[in-house]
Amino acid sequence: MKLLPFLSENFLSSRPLVIAGPCSAESAGQMLQTARGLAAEGVSILRAGVWKPRTMPGSFEGFGSKALPWLVDAACECGMLAATEVANRSHVEEALQAGIDILWIGARTTANPFAVQEIADAIAALAPDTPVIVKNPLNPDVSLWLGAIQRLSLAGVCRLAASHRGFSVYTPRIYRNDPCWRLPIELHHRLPELPLLCDPSHIAGRRDLVAPICQQAMDLGFDGLIVECHSYPDCALSDAAQQLTPAEFGSLLKSLRLKHGNGNDRESLAQMRAEIDTIDSELIALLARRMDVARRIGDYKRAEGLPVVQTERYSQLMSQRTAQAAELNLDENFIRSILAAIHEESVRLQL
Ligand code: PEP
Ligand code: MN
Repeated sequence: MKLLPFLSENFLSSRPLVIAGPCSAESAGQMLQTARGLAAEGVSILRAGVWKPRTMPGSFEGFGSKALPWLVDAACECGMLAATEVANRSHVEEALQAGIDILWIGARTTANPFAVQEIADAIAALAPDTPVIVKNPLNPDVSLWLGAIQRLSLAGVCRLAASHRGFSVYTPRIYRNDPCWRLPIELHHRLPELPLLCDPSHIAGRRDLVAPICQQAMDLGFDGLIVECHSYPDCALSDAAQQLTPAEFGSLLKSLRLKHGNGNDRESLAQMRAEIDTIDSELIALLARRMDVARRIGDYKRAEGLPVVQTERYSQLMSQRTAQAAELNLDENFIRSILAAIHEESVRLQL
């Protein structure tokens, strides 16, 4: 796949590459104040959403085209580059016309090959040198992410980067979007030259979790960060809970421990620990689901006057599960003790 440097040398020389700004451009004043605060912290790329894809109709969907000059003028005034999200051809045309420097494709759009193709063709026709960031799709599918990146490159848009913003989850977890670090790492294996950014704000969903995710991204060798910042986060019209003030973000940047070295060690202890973190969180969510079912079974047994423990069912379950575990090279005693503990807890819930 043909890739060119995402940005010119002076922007890329600093690691991490930092992009920050509000979730949405809300007014000229809000943009300018936030941009000034961020510029004072050394940030040189300003982000803001203008067209906001929202899950539910009726939520704030951005101010649209009229917000473009708020973003562009604030960036110009502070000597920054301006970045915004595009989801269709007319967004691309209007954003480029307004002087936006960097475009990104949001998670909901990356999952739609027709939309990605339309955007790729529009950028290729108007300004193929534009740097474009492709956020991961909502669902944990590396091929869909890779496919969107390929569509851009094949259309002739080759200044590309990927942004990891986590994946939608059904069962509630600590994070708004599951970091599932295995996926960006897999993308990096497939496209080692592609700069990889992390968007900790959309992963976290909560401002207190943003800093540890930034650190984890740095430990994993990510090239940059894209972080939501607002001068008055609590008053933000969208994603209020996850935004930081420019000053908070400045301290966060200073606190980051950066790894020096060749940047090729993503198969590191940090990576494997991230994998373990994801797996443990999946295990806990699965156990919670299993206990929910156990409670419903308890209700059923009570209503039907059945005994809680049915020995035949228990021994059947044990032998099935240990056979499956043996095929996966898991130690039989280990599996037996885990199953026994799970069963004991199910019984306790049904009593
Ligand atoms: C955003 O960056 O404001 C945004 C909407 O992100 P995502 O597409 O990752 O949800
Ligand atoms: Mn947002």
